[in-house]
Amino acid sequence: MANTATNYRNYGSNNGTRSSLNSNKSSSSSSSFKSKASAANSVSSAPPPRRSSTGSVNALKYDPGVPGRVRVAVRLRPRNAEELASDADFADCVELQPELKRLKLRRNNWDSDTYEFDEVLTEFSSQKRVYEVVAKPVVESVLDGYNGTVMAYGQTGTGKTYTLGRLGDEDTAARGIMVRALEDILSEISPETDSVCVSYLQLYMETIQDLLDPSNDNISILEDPKTGDISLPGATHVEIRDQESFLELLRLGEAHRFAANTKLNTESSRSHAILMVQVKRSIKGRDSAVSNENGDKSHMHRTLKPGIVRKGKLVVVDLAGSERIDKSGSEGHTLEEAKSINLSLSALGKCINALAENSSHVPVRDSKLTRLLRDSFGGTARTSLVVTIGPSPRHRAETSSTISFGQRAMKVENMLKIKEEFDYKSLSRRLDIQLETLIAEHERRQKAFQDEVDRLSLEAQKRIDEAERNFADALEKERLKYQNDYVESIQKLKDQWVLHQENSGDGRGKASVISASEQVTEVKLLLEKEVSIRKRAEEELSNLKYQLMQRERSEAAGSSEILKLRKTLESETQQKEKLEEEIAILQNQLLQLSFEADKTRRQLDQNGDVEVPNGIDSPVSQARNQQLQESGHGEKASVAKLFEQVGLQKILSLLEAEDPDVRIHAVKVVANLAAEETNQEKIVEAGGLASLLMLLSNSDDETIHRVSAGAIANLAMNETNQELIMAQGGIGLLSIAAANAEDPQTLRMIAGAIANLCGNDKLQMKLRDEGGIRALLGMVRCRHPDVLAQVARGIANFAKCESRASTQGSKHGRSLLIEDGALAWIVQNANNDASPIRRHIELALCHLAQHEVNAKDMVIGGALWELVRISRECTREDIRILAHRTLTSSPIFQGELKRLRIGYN
Ligand code: ADP
Ligand code: MG
Repeated sequence: MANTATNYRNYGSNNGTRSSLNSNKSSSSSSSFKSKASAANSVSSAPPPRRSSTGSVNALKYDPGVPGRVRVAVRLRPRNAEELASDADFADCVELQPELKRLKLRRNNWDSDTYEFDEVLTEFSSQKRVYEVVAKPVVESVLDGYNGTVMAYGQTGTGKTYTLGRLGDEDTAARGIMVRALEDILSEISPETDSVCVSYLQLYMETIQDLLDPSNDNISILEDPKTGDISLPGATHVEIRDQESFLELLRLGEAHRFAANTKLNTESSRSHAILMVQVKRSIKGRDSAVSNENGDKSHMHRTLKPGIVRKGKLVVVDLAGSERIDKSGSEGHTLEEAKSINLSLSALGKCINALAENSSHVPVRDSKLTRLLRDSFGGTARTSLVVTIGPSPRHRAETSSTISFGQRAMKVENMLKIKEEFDYKSLSRRLDIQLETLIAEHERRQKAFQDEVDRLSLEAQKRIDEAERNFADALEKERLKYQNDYVESIQKLKDQWVLHQENSGDGRGKASVISASEQVTEVKLLLEKEVSIRKRAEEELSNLKYQLMQRERSEAAGSSEILKLRKTLESETQQKEKLEEEIAILQNQLLQLSFEADKTRRQLDQNGDVEVPNGIDSPVSQARNQQLQESGHGEKASVAKLFEQVGLQKILSLLEAEDPDVRIHAVKVVANLAAEETNQEKIVEAGGLASLLMLLSNSDDETIHRVSAGAIANLAMNETNQELIMAQGGIGLLSIAAANAEDPQTLRMIAGAIANLCGNDKLQMKLRDEGGIRALLGMVRCRHPDVLAQVARGIANFAKCESRASTQGSKHGRSLLIEDGALAWIVQNANNDASPIRRHIELALCHLAQHEVNAKDMVIGGALWELVRISRECTREDIRILAHRTLTSSPIFQGELKRLRIGYN
């Protein structure tokens, strides 16, 4: 706890505006002022500066957790009938100054002690107002997914139960915090997706009893070793749907409490009553899961959103009476029993002391109550404490000890942590399903392709066979025909020859000449016929050849179709590989995110006083542990390794992803990386700064604006980056974002970035010319102290640089801050209650006042009075002296003081 507390105190202090109220401002000099000196000191002491050549000190780390101090209100009960009668002649022992949030406890007739609280509630304060200042902010946090605790502490009879537990049956205006809190919760949630679960318990003599089931009288406390969350699995949990059933439950609990106390022979004032309300809200990704299971690729990106469930727990504790029980004997208890009765309460006091002093050991394990409240005090919760006191001087000692308890509790700082869970399991399941679908689809296509190839080659083979057969048949036919023709003509010739032989035996001479010439003619004819037959055969042959060619060509067409199919297959395979790569990137990203979550949790666990084993079932932490063992370089080495695995370029490319959720995740990862000095240069080199600036101008999403402004603020910590930001038009973009933002945290980040830029000597003119100062001043419209503190820091940085430039002679003329009209706001806030704001402004005023050119405007603007005040009252000696020196050395200031006849030297 100790480390975390100092690390985050920088911001925590901004929340606790009242806590840092300066003790020197007390007007009553006679009273000894017992405010939280040490808290105020720790608030004003700046954290060790990170590397910066320009003197800007605040590192705006984008943290998943927000720190907050325990808020403490004091409530005074009106005099009761008895007190009205018996104390009529005595004045009350307390005097309240609600407007100053102060309480004076009379020590004696002439002297009193003054205390400050976050809220001082008089005897006239309505239940509604008490709820609004004490519990409403806690309830709102619970609805946002934080743990929240509201407790009442005080002597018996001072109104703890009145404040927390009244049902308001007879008068609705009398309803207490429990009833009002449930009313608010029920009206905020949506019944279809969200749930509210209630348990009601009593803790007496270190035993936890179930007020909703009296037979259940020894409930044990369970701590989740991973998250440190506290739960009571043995207690009755009732789901609440409407206000009436909740009231019924409280009545039932009250009746059981009465019965139990009768049986145990005790009063309820000796026991603690604990109401636990668990709120679960679904905030996103409800409809994202299903569509992909039918393998619809086009929706792939949209479906990669893990659903988010926010779990908040509200614990309301009506503590046992804080008075010491010397009366134990009268209640029939032995000394041992008496000790046990108040064990929990005294353990609570010890824990608060340890936390308030930042002690390394907080004895939470000493009692059931402190174990139960482990995550409320000094844990990860927003906590409000109302201390109740009575007016009677007879109980002055009890009242005083109650007040001291409240004062110590005000020093306890909590680390708020949102309990939001990404549904990684179902995302990973969905990714698996997608992968399997793709594999199956791929197999199907491959099979179809193979079948098609087989079919085509079979067909081609058939055609070839057929063509060959046809060709062979035709050839055979021709051959037979020629053979026949040949045989026939030979036969004819033979016959003719025989005939001729016969004729030449009868008579020779003329007749034989005639027949010879006839024969020649006939042979010629035959020959001609022969030639024409051959020609036809040749024609037939070429015809067949042509047909064969045609067949071959069609076959070739068949194989080109095969080629085409093969190409399609290749591109399908490539596409599949690409998808697999994308899945791998997303899985890496997931790894990175759950690693970050793991790291934060481990840090928290380390800082708590209980050793918590590592998440056993988380693959990330397993992998990381292995890496740690292997490399032996500790946490940083494994961050670097994981970072390498995912690749900065990949993460940066996701900043431009179409899916807004992916973009948000990516920008958060970049912001977290940018918080580490070692990564800043790499991010800027890889073009991350340009991407972040682009997001600031292109995106409409407030979360993206907030986170990227935070990342830019972190990058703006060193001079080189500051110049780059300015060169890339960053101030213009930040100014536009500042004008459009409404969320105080976004404005805080933007103001922080500009404040860092303000600390660079070289950028003064450009920053001003491009509207940087005006943008800063514009942001004061949001009155949130965190934003104002950053604005004040920017102004102080700017004034310091200007002052340096004037001293060196490189700047002449009035301050640009005055030119741009900042003086009015500076003067107004010079005495702001929040010390970070005040401190920066005091510095700015001193810087401005050092140069005579500014003096006249400062006199007109009323800054002279503030300087006088600073020189007298400021708790920081160096500033006090600076103010004094400035006042005495400026002729204009001296002249004005003289004119007003104010002696000042
Ligand atoms: P505790 O729980 O601290 O023992 P109770 O809440 O029971 O004290 O209050 C004691 C008595 O004082 C009750 O009768 C209650 O009604 C009354 N009481 C307490 N606070 C107030 C208040 N602010 N205004 C009016 N009556 C009060
Ligand atoms: Mg009570």
